[in-house]
This record gives sequence, C-alpha cells and structure tokens, in this order.
Amino acid sequence: MFRVTLTHLILIYMAVLLGILCFAWVIGELIRFRQDRHQRRSTVVCDICGHSFEDPSEAELLTCPSCGRLNERGSVREI
Ligand SMILES: [Zn+2]
Repeated sequence: MFRVTLTHLILIYMAVLLGILCFAWVIGELIRFRQDRHQRRSTVVCDICGHSFEDPSEAELLTCPSCGRLNERGSVREI
C-alpha cells in the first residue's frame, strides 16, 4: 500500500473534477455544433426577396413561400 498525503489527495480530486468538467464541456460543444449545423441546413434564404424559411426536407431546390422562386439550398451566412 502506498501512502497518500492530504495534499496529494486534494490534487487528485481536483484533477479528476477538472477532467470531468472538460469532458462535459466537449460533449456539450459537440451537441451544440450538431444542432447548429442542422439548423443551418434547414434554413433557406430566398435570393430574390430575402425571405427566410425553414424546410426540414432534403430537397436541393425549394420554392420560396413568399415570391414562388426556386432556391438552391445553401449555407446561410452569419452577419
Ligand atoms: Zn422569395
């Protein structure tokens, strides 16, 4: 059996706690990134009228509900 001082025990506890927090943060960021990518994929902005609409389908050409023009699904730019 090896001896562990109180200082080492506290350091081990803090290291394990920090590892758990880092792991939870990485998992949370991955989930947020996937949700954001899905949201960007389903949002379409019309090239003519600028109307933004949601379409969860996988079709590449979508009809704008405002002006009726066909729009190609693409990435939505952030401002
Ligand atoms: Zn439109």
